[in-house]
Amino acid sequence: MPIPINCPSCGLSGAAADKLHGKTIKCQRCETVIKVQRPSLVVPVDAALLQQAAAAPRPQRPRGPAVDPRTQPRVQDFSFKWVLIGLGVTAVLAVLSLLIRFAALSIFNTMNK
Ligand SMILES: [Zn+2]
Repeated sequence: MPIPINCPSCGLSGAAADKLHGKTIKCQRCETVIKVQRPSLVVPVDAALLQQAAAAPRPQRPRGPAVDPRTQPRVQDFSFKWVLIGLGVTAVLAVLSLLIRFAALSIFNTMNK
């Protein structure tokens, strides 16, 4: 099988004889030295990279949907309830402090009069 060759300098595409595999040839147009390599040597590398890229997100996918919808709403509801409770307690304390101040002022005024 002839080995397809693409010149990196001028982009000339051609084919080299099978005997030239592993050797260097010169581009017919720009005389750039090109190493003759079979494309089959490159394909396994791409296949390995694709397998790694496809295998990488797989462990994350089962973890995400299995854990998030169960734990996150509970945590959000729990924190939200405590925020409401805290706001209510602070509001009640503020109202009580105002009532106590008004009561103290009214008592103080009545005692002076
Ligand atoms: Zn060339």
